[in-house]
This record gives sequence, structure tokens and C-alpha cells, in this order.
Amino acid sequence: MESENKQSILIIEDEEAIAELERDYLEQSGYRVELAGDGSLGLARALEEDFDLVILDIMLPGLDGFSVCKRIRESKNIPILLVSAKKDEADKVSGLGLGADDYITKPFSPSELTARVRAHLSRYARLTGSGSRSVSDVIEIRSLHIDKSARRVLVNGEERLFTNKEFDLLVFLAEHPNQVFSKDELFRAIWEMEVVGEIATVTVHIKKIREKIEPVPGSPQFIETIWGVGYRFKA
Ligand code: CA
Repeated sequence: MESENKQSILIIEDEEAIAELERDYLEQSGYRVELAGDGSLGLARALEEDFDLVILDIMLPGLDGFSVCKRIRESKNIPILLVSAKKDEADKVSGLGLGADDYITKPFSPSELTARVRAHLSRYARLTGSGSRSVSDVIEIRSLHIDKSARRVLVNGEERLFTNKEFDLLVFLAEHPNQVFSKDELFRAIWEMEVVGEIATVTVHIKKIREKIEPVPGSPQFIETIWGVGYRFKA
């Protein structure tokens, strides 16, 4: 790999020995690596420079990893790997919807870390084409990642396949969060001139979308049913 083409990784980690071990392995794998020893400094670096990926420890002096993750995600569309010392922290990460792409529990092997870094970088490159892209093409809500121009949906980093109409309906709802739409309104918005369909089509499509994006389709956290009215995407 040419040095000017190296992808850059920011490691935000206060334990120097761990940070240096991670850096050494990633450098051997061909990445350019920068270290930041506390949360505030790491956040500042992540925002001022275009890193390709961030590895972020949760327990940090200054600003904790949860806050750093949230702040980076507000302005950067790059993979964020959270590193947690405890299993229950990892559970918390998955529940919080901070916009992290993955988390690794300590201790982990350097080869596991390198493998995950590589996987996330290639996934992002695939999603974004060149590897950089404006945030507006992507809708990120909790575990859900919708790439509008690539017409792809990821749930917890895993791709789910959508038909065209399912995709259009999901994007329409996600772009109008917290607004209630009747089935009739949704039908007209998505199916437009295709008068051969009927309103029940909306119900069928909502059911299919839920099966793909909801952790528990029976108690949806994204698309809520507003009884007697219609549906609402909860942001
Ligand atoms: Ca730490």
C-alpha cells in the first residue's frame, strides 16, 4: 500500500500499553494510527481531522466514551468501534443507540481487532463508494443505518434486503420522524399513480419492514402503530 493512500485510524484510549499494542498491530497491517489519551482530546482530534475509523475506549478521563461516540456521530459518518472493559458495558452500548458500529470486550486479541477494523473499513467503502460522502445521504437512527443513494439498509451493521417499495416506505417514514401518517397518506406517498394496489398493501409492507429492522417485531421501537390513525417513525 502506498503511504499516501494509507487509511487513518484514531485510537482514543487512556491505557498507554493497550493503545500502543493496538497501534503497533494496526500499523503493521498498513494503517496510519494516531493516539489520544483522553476523551476531550480524542473528540477534538476526531472532529478536526478526517480519520477513516475511530477506536474508542469507554472508560476515559475527561469525557467518557459514550459521550465522545455520540458527539463524533453527530458530524462524522465513519466507523466507530467501542472498546469496553466489561460485558455489561457492552450490553449498555448495544442498548443506547449511540451510533457505534461495533464493540469489542477487553481482553481481545490484536488480530481480532485488526480483522474488525478491516471489515468495517471495507463495509464503509462499499457503502460510500469512494469512502467519503456527505452525511445527508445516510440516515442513522440507533441500530438502523439507511444509505439512500446505495439503497441499502443495515441493522446493527448487518445488511438487510428490501424491495423497492419497502425501501421507499422506510425512507419516507424515517425522513419524517415523529409524524403520524395514515395508511391512505402513506399509500399515496409511495405508490403514487399505481392505483391497482390497495391500502392493505401498506399494512403488509409495514409488517415486512418491521421483520427486517425491529429487534422484536411484536413491540416495535422504530415504526409504531398509532391505533385508529396510522404509523409513526420514532426517532
Ligand atoms: Ca480506559
